Amino acid sequence: MSDFLAMAKEMKPQLVAWRRDFHMHPELAYEEERTAGIVAAHLQRLGYRVETGVAKTGVIGVLEGTRPGPVVMFRFDMDALPVSEETGAEYASRTPGKMHACGHDGHVAMGMGLAEFLAARRQQLAGTAKLIFQPAEEGGNGAELMVQEGAMENPHPDVFVATHIWLQKPLGTVDVTVGPVMAAAEKFSCTIHGLGGHGALPQHAVDPIVAAAHVVTALQTIVSRNVGPLDTAVLSVGSIHGGDAFNVIPPQVHMEGTIRTFDPQTRQAILRRLQEVVEGVATACGTRAEIETKSLTPAVINDPQVTEMIRRAAEAIVGPEHVSLGERTMGSEDAAFFMQQAPGCYFFIGGANAERGLTASHHNPRFDFDEDVLPLGVAILAQVAYLYLVEHKAYLLNK
Ligand SMILES: [Zn+2]
Ligand SMILES: [Zn+2]
Repeated sequence: MSDFLAMAKEMKPQLVAWRRDFHMHPELAYEEERTAGIVAAHLQRLGYRVETGVAKTGVIGVLEGTRPGPVVMFRFDMDALPVSEETGAEYASRTPGKMHACGHDGHVAMGMGLAEFLAARRQQLAGTAKLIFQPAEEGGNGAELMVQEGAMENPHPDVFVATHIWLQKPLGTVDVTVGPVMAAAEKFSCTIHGLGGHGALPQHAVDPIVAAAHVVTALQTIVSRNVGPLDTAVLSVGSIHGGDAFNVIPPQVHMEGTIRTFDPQTRQAILRRLQEVVEGVATACGTRAEIETKSLTPAVINDPQVTEMIRRAAEAIVGPEHVSLGERTMGSEDAAFFMQQAPGCYFFIGGANAERGLTASHHNPRFDFDEDVLPLGVAILAQVAYLYLVEHKAYLLNK
């Protein structure tokens, strides 16, 4: 067993206690006051330079080593979800309608464990560790706001590292994939304007419902006909609203949807086709379309060199046979905003345990992970820190 794993396993009771406390007291996006308070007090006690209130509730802790070296940033997200917990666990959420159903409680606990590990070895560190505890990952773009409020400066990181406890993978496995791992997400909204009228007299109306039906169908040709078969994209219409009565043709229909892509050129091509298809089909139906698109998050793209370092660290902790390559999801992750500013790697740590029934998917009311993932996560992150801030091999590789 590696030293780091043995050290992290000793820390397990504390990691579990932190995690369960956060789990019992979930806080939604930008409301993570209690969580942030506990994190900030912990970092202060350990001697970190601490900044609070970044992006409302975010916390940044900076620990400078005794010699110069790279700045390595580790990110942990803190927010819970508006989900009512159904795990029946003794440490279940004490607040109805709020739950840590994505594992961010575990991320915060791992971050606090890593903070303790680094502070205890400060004399060995050449360089700076920057730990960042982020609000509002779940749709609130807390990372974007943190970047806007200067989180990537003072000091600017040379390397960015983030991880997610992952229930698609069993405990004891890690996935470290180079290149795109999470998709760029856009939201689109479109209104189709027709001319309302009597359902029995369509010749005197312009029916936006029929137009909308054609638009939805035609939109599904974009991925199948305009995106290369080896490329990856999704276009889903998630809501469609129009009309209130069975015998009335309404004046308009509103629809919304999302587009997910890995490649910026594919993304551009889809956005162009979205416009052409919606407007063209609407026109053909005698209606008029208004379209708005909003970029939510860029794609998470792992830097080859940082990813290589993370892979080495993960292999040292769980063994090369338990480190896979290739996990990707069309879900999105606002860590991408940090990764636009510094080369980074976002990797997945398996947290499922089928024997114990811990396999519910993320955001499910029965979501729970095997807590043995907590020391594993701390050990891998500690190993990463060691590679960059003690051995310095990794830093040289990056230059
Ligand atoms: Zn989530
Ligand atoms: Zn999450």
